[in-house]
Amino acid sequence: MPELNLILLGPPGSGKGTQGERLQEDFRLPYYATGDILRAAVKEGTEVGKKAKEYMDRGDLVPDEVIIGVIAERLQDEEAADGFILDGFPRTLAQAEALDAKMKELRREITAVILVEVSEGEALRRLAGRRTCEKNPSHIYHLELDPPKNDEVCDLDGGKLTVRDDDKPEVITNRLAQYREKTEPLIGYYEDRGILQRVNGELPPDEVEERIHALIGTLRREEEMEI
Ligand SMILES: [Zn+2]
Repeated sequence: MPELNLILLGPPGSGKGTQGERLQEDFRLPYYATGDILRAAVKEGTEVGKKAKEYMDRGDLVPDEVIIGVIAERLQDEEAADGFILDGFPRTLAQAEALDAKMKELRREITAVILVEVSEGEALRRLAGRRTCEKNPSHIYHLELDPPKNDEVCDLDGGKLTVRDDDKPEVITNRLAQYREKTEPLIGYYEDRGILQRVNGELPPDEVEERIHALIGTLRREEEMEI
């Protein structure tokens, strides 16, 4: 079976994180959400993790070459031998180019970039209604789409539900603007390479998942025919 090296692209609120987690289970591939693997590398104290920590401790942005180092560590891990799912990286053209160079060095190729598309209005609606459990931040609700049984209280552990700093209105506006300015150019970049696949992220999550499955199925059939 050929490798399945996927990148998930989409604005905040597109639901690509949910899809990433589902794909990880469905295809048994490691799912690398950049923020998480950066924190993990720091915790494990790997060489690049230590470098990343220096910047994070100062409150500075971790530079591209350090992030790509952290990601490269993971891609070379045994668990990623059959493929991987990247989410949150690359976020800029410079990062995309750095990733291309690294993949070439590793003699691997990106199979597809899956763009989960949602309108800005829909992204805003989704992000603004999000509530996160204070006891366990992986317990996430949405006041409209996935409401808790009791107002602002976690169904699982009774934790208080709060608005994450990331989900505050002024921060949401800024995150969407950053996406438009820095990340959206990647759509053309990957389209030119013929590996961009668009999925309508406004559909219910199960349908989005089905469409991604169909798309990956087609890619695999195409690859088998080439071999
Ligand atoms: Zn909870």
